[in-house]
Amino acid sequence: MALRNDQYDLIMREYSRRQNANHRLLESRREEIFRKIPRIAEINRQISALSAEHIRKSLLSGFSSESASLHARTAELEEERQLLLRSYGYPVDYLEMPDTCPICHDTGFTEGGKKCSCFRQLEIDLLYRQKDLDEILRKENFNTFSLKWYPESIKDEATGKSAAELARNAFQVSQEFTEHFDDTFSNLFFYGDTGVGKTFLSHCIAAELLSASHSVLYFSSFDLFDHLAAAAFGEDRTSAPDSIIFDCDLLIIDDLGTELTNAFVSSQLFLCVNERLLKQKPTVISTNLSLRNFSDTYSERTFSRIASAYHMCKLIGKDIRILKKINGGK
Ligand SMILES: [Zn+2]
Repeated sequence: MALRNDQYDLIMREYSRRQNANHRLLESRREEIFRKIPRIAEINRQISALSAEHIRKSLLSGFSSESASLHARTAELEEERQLLLRSYGYPVDYLEMPDTCPICHDTGFTEGGKKCSCFRQLEIDLLYRQKDLDEILRKENFNTFSLKWYPESIKDEATGKSAAELARNAFQVSQEFTEHFDDTFSNLFFYGDTGVGKTFLSHCIAAELLSASHSVLYFSSFDLFDHLAAAAFGEDRTSAPDSIIFDCDLLIIDDLGTELTNAFVSSQLFLCVNERLLKQKPTVISTNLSLRNFSDTYSERTFSRIASAYHMCKLIGKDIRILKKINGGK
């Protein structure tokens, strides 16, 4: 699915909106500071005057010892301004132009002219209507993850590890995954029964990476294959499967195994997993299937790609959604 012209315009309008909002924010900060610390307004006037003087002098006689002294005077004034800001408890960059995205400064494009991650994310939100996700991520993130739902008393038959031990491990692996997202290529595979927190952990990861300006595409497996089938067989057929699915910084496929599995689904899953591995783009998959069932349901070759390149995290325990209902949502 590619952007139509009107969708592209919509995204560019969003950037104008962000830039305008940041301009207004800077204006109100300046007013606030000039009111509280009048000396800073005076410093700004002096710096402007020095800069005008500098331009005039260098046009007349090129660089001279005089321009060096103008330069030094400007640096002194800038230092005084920083000290004043700090002494009033403000960050030193308080009067610099703020931006929503530090990578592209709200232009949508990086210095090399490539689409920024934040542009990718706006595309994803627009094309896949991920807006509902924002609400979920406000509730489900690393700060709200709780180990209290995982008792020591429930043991995994295969490994002898307790539900609590496995959950602690999965939580730690998820945090490390986000912390090293930019410097280490890795993938995660959560498996276990319904309601043991696999989706919750995927949400934690999504929330963390979205807040760090990464593009995250989140799909329930049902929606993913529905979408791929529509692209392949539907009226609105595009020449190739979505590049965003292969290119976004992180793809999350949630609840794999709940869709209607057939040869198409199986081949598309292999394609997604394989393409993203080749491009070194991380993927997080969660499934209710056991490892044996997973291999039987999809294919041996998909399973072996996953087993060789994904960090496998098992979760066990009681259905947390039911436990929460019993506890009145707490
Ligand atoms: Zn950006």
